[in-house]
Amino acid sequence: MFRFAPSPTGDMHIGNLRVALFNFIVSSQKNEKFIIRIEDTDKVRNIEGKDREILEILALFDIKYQNVSYQSANIKFHRQLATQLLSDGNAFICFCSDELLDEKREEAKKQKKAYKYDGTCEGLSDRAVMENEESSFTVRIKKPLEDLTFFDKIKGSVSFGAKEIDSFVILRKDKTPTYNYACAVDDMLSNIGFVIRGEDHLSNTPKQEHIRKLFKYDEKMEFAHLPIILNIEGKKMSKRDDASSVKWLLEQGFLPQAITNYLILHGNKTPKKIFSLDEALDWFDIEKISKNPAKFDINQLRDLNNAHINLMDSLKLSTLIGYSSADIGELAKLYTEEASTINELKPKIDKVFRAKVSDDENVAKLRSVMSDTPYFEEFNEFKKYLMVNSGLKGKNFFQPLRFLLTGANSGPKLQDVYPLIKNYLTEIIK
Ligand code: GLU
Repeated sequence: MFRFAPSPTGDMHIGNLRVALFNFIVSSQKNEKFIIRIEDTDKVRNIEGKDREILEILALFDIKYQNVSYQSANIKFHRQLATQLLSDGNAFICFCSDELLDEKREEAKKQKKAYKYDGTCEGLSDRAVMENEESSFTVRIKKPLEDLTFFDKIKGSVSFGAKEIDSFVILRKDKTPTYNYACAVDDMLSNIGFVIRGEDHLSNTPKQEHIRKLFKYDEKMEFAHLPIILNIEGKKMSKRDDASSVKWLLEQGFLPQAITNYLILHGNKTPKKIFSLDEALDWFDIEKISKNPAKFDINQLRDLNNAHINLMDSLKLSTLIGYSSADIGELAKLYTEEASTINELKPKIDKVFRAKVSDDENVAKLRSVMSDTPYFEEFNEFKKYLMVNSGLKGKNFFQPLRFLLTGANSGPKLQDVYPLIKNYLTEIIK
C-alpha cells in the first residue's frame, strides 16, 4: 500500500505534487493500492478548503487513488496506542512547562548545541505522577537505545545514531498527536509498505522507525526520499518563488500534462524528453532519480508546455482558450511559434476575432473589397482575387491583409492561417 499524506496548511507545492505523482506511478507499476491521507491534526495551521483544493489538483493531474481519509479520524487510536506505550514503559508523562523547555532550548543555542530533551520527567516515580495530576502534561516516547539504519531507494543506506534522537513528544498537552507519531501509527494501521516523500522528512524516518519498533511492528517498509527542488539561485524553492505553487503554474496557463512531464523529467534519466503520464508508467524507475537536488527550470517547462499544446486534441485546446472549434485549436497551435502558454495564446486568437480598427487607407480599401468577396477554398485564389480587385500590391497589400485576417502585423504564414479561418471570414473582417 502507498500513500500521499498532504497537510491542508497551504497551497500545494510542486514538490508535493511530485510526491503524489511518484506514489501514483510506483503503486500502479506494482499493482498496489494508493490512498490519500489528509494530515489535519495541527488545528492551528489547517486552512479551511485546502483539502478540497488538493483533491481537485490531483483530479486535474489524473492522479487516481482508492481512498481518502482524514488523520483526525484516527485520534482515538493515537491516544489508545499512547496508553499502551505508557503501560509498557516505552513512554512517559512529562510535566515540563513550555517556559522551562524554551529556556533550555535557548541555553543549548547559546552553547551552539542541538537541543535535546534532557530526560527530566523520564524517571518520575508513579507517586510523583499521581501528585501532579492537576497539571497539564505531554506524553513523550522514550528515546532509542540503538542506532537506526534504513535503506532508501534513492539515497542508499541511511543511519542515525541513537544520540541524535531524544525522548520526543508524541501527544501534545491537548492530547493531539504530533506529526511523527500520528504518521508512524497511521502508516502501520493502513499497512503502508512503501513511503515516497520529500527528503525534508529524511530525519523523521528514524523517529517513525523507532515508534514502529516499540510496537514490535515488523512488516517490511521501503523508502524513497525525493531530493528537494531548488530555485534558479540554487536555494530550496519556497513560497516566495511563485513557480513553487501548482495553482500559480496552472493560473499562468501551464498544462497539467506539461507540468507532469516536467516533474518526471526533473533530476531523472528518462528514455525520452516529451511524454505522457501513461507512457511514463511503462518505464519510470524511482531508483534512477538523482540523489542531488536539481534547479527548477521554467524555460524547460515552457518548452514542454509548447510541445504538449501541439500534442493536444484541437477541440480541447480551443475550449481552453474560450472557443469551441477544432479549427481554432489548430490555429492556436500555429501560434506556438511565438507563444508557449494558454495565457499567451489566448490574446493572439482573440485578436484574430476582434474588430480591426485602423486609419490606414489601404486597410480601408482592402476591407471594402473583402466585405463582398466570394468564398475561396484556396488561399492563393483568395489572394489573387483581392489583389486584382483592390489594385494593391506588395507590402501595401500584404500588411493590410495580415492585419485584417489576424489583427497583428506579424505572425504565422497566412497560407497556413487561411484554411483554418476561411469559414469565419465575415466574423473576422469587422
Ligand atoms: N504531512 C506531511 C507533509 O505534508 C507528510 C509527510 C509524509 O509523507 O510522511 O509533508
